Amino acid sequence: MWPKSIKLNTPNHTVWVEWSDGHRSAYSYPYLRDHCPCATCTSSHRGGATASPSPNPLPMLGAQALRPLRAELVGRYALQIFWSDGHSSGIYTFDYLRGLCPCEQCRPFPAHGA
Ligand SMILES: [Zn+2]
Ligand SMILES: [Zn+2]
Repeated sequence: MWPKSIKLNTPNHTVWVEWSDGHRSAYSYPYLRDHCPCATCTSSHRGGATASPSPNPLPMLGAQALRPLRAELVGRYALQIFWSDGHSSGIYTFDYLRGLCPCEQCRPFPAHGA
């Protein structure tokens, strides 16, 4: 499983990923950032409450202001996202990224907006 194509900047502020199996995922910027897997993000503002999939926007940054500037492949297994606030230490493995997919098919329970 790997991303065939990635669109970082879409008009509705989502990152689009088309997967090798044809599945398409759309991640809102705050959702993606909130799930940044780096040590800083996972230890600082989550407080261990990782069970909740709710896409809370980061309190210190407006949802519109924060956006991914670019993404680079890390080897053949992960994606590194460079955010507009300079944060870039989050390495999203493809497995992890696919697991985050908020669509109904991947998440049978309401993930957000419901
Ligand atoms: Zn991070
Ligand atoms: Zn999905």
